Amino acid sequence: MIQSLKPEEILSITGGKLLGVSADAEFSQISIDSRQILQPFKTLFVALRGAKADGANFIPILIKQGVQHFLVHEDFDTSEQMLSQALFILVKDTKVALQQLAAYQRSLFTGPVLSITGSNGKTITKEWLGQLLSQQFSVAKSPKSYNSQVGVPLSVFGIHPYHQVAILEAGISKFGEMATLEKIIRPDLGIFTNIGSAHEEGFSTIREKIREKLILFRESKFLIYCRDQNLLSQEIENGVDASRLISWSQKKDADFRISYKNGDHRTRVVLVKKNLSTYTFQVPFSDQASLENATHALVAALTLGEDPKSIQQGLDQLRQVDMRLTLKPGINDCLLIDDTYNNDLAGLKVALEFMSQQRPKRQKVLILSDLLQQGSPEKIYAEVADLIRSYRIDRILAVGKEIRRLADAFPQQSDLFHTTEDLLESLPLTSFQNDLILVTGARDFALERIVNRLQQRIHGTTLEINLNALTHNFNFYKRQLKPGTRVMVMVKAFAYGGGATEIANHLQTLGADYLAVAFTDEGVALRNQGIRLPIMVLNPVEASFDLLREYQLEPVVFSPVFLKKLGMYASLHQIKIPIHLDLDTGMHRLGFESKHLAELKGLIATYPELKIASLYTHLVGADEEIHHDFSLKQLEQFMEMKKEIESILTYRPLIHALNSAGIIRFPEYQMDMVRLGIGLYGVEVTGKHHHELKAVSTLKTTISQIKTLAPGSTVGYSRRGQLPEGGTIATLAIGYADGFDRRFSMGKGYVLIRGEKAPVIGNVCMDMTMVDISQIPEVREGEQAIIYGEGIPLRDLADRIGTIPYELLTNISSRVKRVYYLD
Ligand SMILES: *Cc1c(COP(=O)(O)O)cnc(C)c1O
Repeated sequence: MIQSLKPEEILSITGGKLLGVSADAEFSQISIDSRQILQPFKTLFVALRGAKADGANFIPILIKQGVQHFLVHEDFDTSEQMLSQALFILVKDTKVALQQLAAYQRSLFTGPVLSITGSNGKTITKEWLGQLLSQQFSVAKSPKSYNSQVGVPLSVFGIHPYHQVAILEAGISKFGEMATLEKIIRPDLGIFTNIGSAHEEGFSTIREKIREKLILFRESKFLIYCRDQNLLSQEIENGVDASRLISWSQKKDADFRISYKNGDHRTRVVLVKKNLSTYTFQVPFSDQASLENATHALVAALTLGEDPKSIQQGLDQLRQVDMRLTLKPGINDCLLIDDTYNNDLAGLKVALEFMSQQRPKRQKVLILSDLLQQGSPEKIYAEVADLIRSYRIDRILAVGKEIRRLADAFPQQSDLFHTTEDLLESLPLTSFQNDLILVTGARDFALERIVNRLQQRIHGTTLEINLNALTHNFNFYKRQLKPGTRVMVMVKAFAYGGGATEIANHLQTLGADYLAVAFTDEGVALRNQGIRLPIMVLNPVEASFDLLREYQLEPVVFSPVFLKKLGMYASLHQIKIPIHLDLDTGMHRLGFESKHLAELKGLIATYPELKIASLYTHLVGADEEIHHDFSLKQLEQFMEMKKEIESILTYRPLIHALNSAGIIRFPEYQMDMVRLGIGLYGVEVTGKHHHELKAVSTLKTTISQIKTLAPGSTVGYSRRGQLPEGGTIATLAIGYADGFDRRFSMGKGYVLIRGEKAPVIGNVCMDMTMVDISQIPEVREGEQAIIYGEGIPLRDLADRIGTIPYELLTNISSRVKRVYYLD
């Protein structure tokens, strides 16, 4: 923070009311996360209310940890005891108060603030510009893509008095949000990267979306944009005074005329200003998107007065890297967190937090380099030591001069290395067993070489799971529910292909109430990986009774015979077993029918050891309007059956019926719990809210070879691929054994290469597929091809071969590595 705050100051900034003991305190830290508190006495904890949880629930624990100052909603119930231990500031809305505090801190910063918005490239442009500017200035920037209504305030608290420039990213998802961000950021200089054509929640047209985003620059002195984007530049030029605009273009008249001269993987960028002063830079990329991001950063750096020599030094260090925090399978059953593009404390905190959310492993290992953060190294590494302590890191390997000098501050002995080569050479591979390893460090150290050594070999094809998108979808469904309604998430079939363990773990942190798997083994695997949520097993068998008991799994009971067997088992072992009764109201798969009710009631009375945890039914056609009446009939019948069973119980089981589609169609039947499946994974099967969900999984592969074929050539088995006029084809490292359905053969399916469609040519093979790239210029071997994900909706692919998204998702073979990331 720029300046510490006293309770009275907070009151005058946020309004509200003070309760409790007033210590003579000042805070230099503001936190919204109970697990991220480093200096309890100096921290103001802001209790936010989200779809996940209410921060206020953590207050008693935080008081025990020594936190003494809380900002809470005015209806917060302060007990006498709490009031004697801490100070409470009560406000109408804690999120608004957090934003007000950020706006105040921002007002104290005297250096230029630059803000970036747009559809794509915000985070990369921010990171690159940060790197260019830090050659000459001390730069504060938003960690990762902290650009939301809460992320922006947290980014502002990361600005310190020694910073000279701040770069803040701004992102919105609905109408009205930008005005709030504008009040906080008040940028002096802006970059509007571009506008995507994707339809977004809450905006009726793209122009409307542009205008909303432009609110960010209402008061800024300058706005940088690219004139070659027609729609965007029209809106900007209509809405913003010309004297405030800084344009660049390859084709039109502009403040900076740009030309690119491509070399091999490098590009020479020439910028000519209106007064004819000319700048030339070498940029280490050649693809369109990277050049656009780099040009925005170059124009901004020049505008801020950075000298061209420093800019070129910064460019030399840029690399096109994956800046996302990624979770990958490692060697020896380790789990690896890749954060090799991190250069400051704010980023380190985010990574440690992500680490703390992973399931328990044998030990937590931190591999880190010097941070390239401005400020006193003593202070910085003292803070790193605090972080190591509070996140309970067990083992440290550190590289770099500064860290070696100051590692004494760390709570335990660390292995220290001069250079990344030294570390690589003596990397004790066998000593890592079933560990959770975070590799984090500054670009210069190229720690990705360490990651390469520690990760399980990933072959051409990977399935990437975006955990932020998963969170988004989970929260979307939460918002459809009445408060207090529980959520059971279906993680059967390897969590619809996404990988049950990591997804279950993420759901645990999101606050899901229950999990459900199809078979006992799936439940056992989750327990073995440290998942603690209650787990329902849809299809248990008698042979697995011991496992159910040992691993605390809760079986579904669906027939009188099965109930008797389980009941006898429970009474024999004198144990209580929680069970779930499946009531068949029309699915005719498993379940008790109406005619079984009398017998069922008798059996329930006979076996009191079986405790009915829940009663449920399953809708057969919730996704389709034509089955509406049938669904209602099912629900009514369920209510009657449930009433009969309840009449003989002395306790109340949970009652539930709705799957993902049911949640959308029958909100009045939420009852105690819903069972969320496909919706979580990004497919809204009723189609009503399709645009509000985010694509969770991206299936990617690489191009193994490219061939140019003469007219009349044929491609693949049975000569089914025909190229009467010849053309260029690419062979991809994916086939039907990986889950790329053979029905995609012969042009039925396509993949995206460089953002363009490449149709399948010939038959899909077992491990390979050929696609036609005749229409896509400049493709090289080794490049990526997207099988599905953003830009290729699952639904469209499924329709092409007459199946449903469920089948495509669950068909991905287990040999395809799953990689998880936060974006
Ligand atoms: C799979 C399943 C669900 C989830 O269905 P979606 O359509 O994926 O939401 C719910 N309940 C039961 C019993 C299931 O088997």
